[in-house]
Amino acid sequence: MAAIKVKIATGIMILQYQRSRFSKNCISANCPLCNIEPEDVTHFILKCEKLSSIRNRFIQELKPFLVDCNKPSLLIQELFNDEENLLHLIIDCTTYHFLTFKEQVRIETLTRELITARTPYADVDFSAKTEPLISSDENDESSACSEDNGDDFVS
Ligand SMILES: [Zn+2]
Repeated sequence: MAAIKVKIATGIMILQYQRSRFSKNCISANCPLCNIEPEDVTHFILKCEKLSSIRNRFIQELKPFLVDCNKPSLLIQELFNDEENLLHLIIDCTTYHFLTFKEQVRIETLTRELITARTPYADVDFSAKTEPLISSDENDESSACSEDNGDDFVS
């Protein structure tokens, strides 16, 4: 179901800022497509102008689709006007419970095109050391930022 999220999370799709980090900054973090700013998830999904035509096509399909599904217009507005909401919708719509399973499948199909538009770099194998960008915990929304487990002073 969450094929796209898995793809990003498991590092099949490596973004340039990760590549830069793994190279100890020998490699530029800038987006290889536009070279304007570091390529992180937000840049890749929402900002890169080189992907704007694909992105716009996707958004143009997605909006009427949600209208057809009888989603409230206020909800649709909130999804598309808020960067984080839209990003979330594209990367992992499965946590949006106002979507039915069928609708989630349709959205994932739409978004896949945007993800695969970026895959010329996917043949480079950096995957072994990639940390997941996005937690794969489906059920636990509260522990996203817990870094300190309190076992610093064992002795
Ligand atoms: Zn770019």
